[in-house]
Amino acid sequence: MIRVLEKNISDKIAAGEVIERPVSIVKELLENSIDSGADTISVEIKNGGKTFIRVTDNGCGIEADQVETAFLRHATSKIETVADLTSISSLGFRGEALASVAAVTQTTLITRPEAEKTGRRLLINGSEVVENVPVGCPHGTTIIVTDLFYNTPARRQFLKSDSAESGMIIDLMSEMALAYTDIKIQFINNGNVLFATAGDSSLKKTIMTVYRQREYDDLADVDFTTPGFTVTGCISRPSLSRSTRRDQIFFVNGRIVKSKVIEKGLSEAYKERLFKGRYPVAFLFLETDPASVDVNIHPNKKEVRFHDDKAVELAVKEAVIDALGTKEAMAGAADY
Ligand code: ADP
Ligand code: MG
Repeated sequence: MIRVLEKNISDKIAAGEVIERPVSIVKELLENSIDSGADTISVEIKNGGKTFIRVTDNGCGIEADQVETAFLRHATSKIETVADLTSISSLGFRGEALASVAAVTQTTLITRPEAEKTGRRLLINGSEVVENVPVGCPHGTTIIVTDLFYNTPARRQFLKSDSAESGMIIDLMSEMALAYTDIKIQFINNGNVLFATAGDSSLKKTIMTVYRQREYDDLADVDFTTPGFTVTGCISRPSLSRSTRRDQIFFVNGRIVKSKVIEKGLSEAYKERLFKGRYPVAFLFLETDPASVDVNIHPNKKEVRFHDDKAVELAVKEAVIDALGTKEAMAGAADY
């Protein structure tokens, strides 16, 4: 007997693909807030995001007659035609996140566009709208998500400990804060403000705020252009190094990526400056022609493929050598 699944079952299955764990919800909500044009965003989690996630922004808000539509699968304001697919400038466009989040949690939406006098509050329990009422609220959008996977216990069992789940969210929030230095981003974990960035576009200040390591004050600025590439960011001088690559974060065209090619370029630049097994701290942003890279578009993957690995490696190497400067690098090496 072949059956078409009931909507409430198919919703939960589809949701499982977008929403694997709390960090996936935080990522989707944060990206929506960025897409909304907000310049101030606050993210709060409790218990690794399993029991509570709240994302508040001062962006464009959602019109009263659209609040329920926003939660339908394939409902998006970001594309209209097939042609739009080739020129997407927003982070989202699939129209699946809110539908997926709502299917496996209890979700509250509070929203008001700046031009409206009153806002709207919508309550959804596992895809069922249980309340949709007018409400007084600041302009922008707040989404509160509680009780993740309350209606799919099998999935809940696969979640890791609170600290493991919050660790993933802390990493995501830190990376996003670096990628969006022009947005004030506040992050609260179990009632503690972990960071609140200034939103003044200063990478160095953002790094200091997010990682709270005094020694990062001495990071060298990378600012280098070569045909086909611009490399910017901050790197440690040879006097500061680590035993792992954990403190190396790379962005390609604004997206966080993992890349052996960038690692290689970086290592090459420090070759004569660091002992084997020591790694620099590096926050590097590579800008290049989008046509020369394939970023895996699966939302949870970070792999990137360059059409010309050697050229990328060389651009990174030259940018880093330029930032370290011969004299400074020698001085650093001497006191190491
Ligand atoms: P997508 O981001 O792919 O369009 P989502 O399911 O994440 O799909 O969101 C659906 C729609 O809801 C968005 O296209 C947008 O119009 C609206 N929306 C979601 N979050 C916000 C927000 N924080 N501020 C304003 N509008 C939002
Ligand atoms: Mg989205």
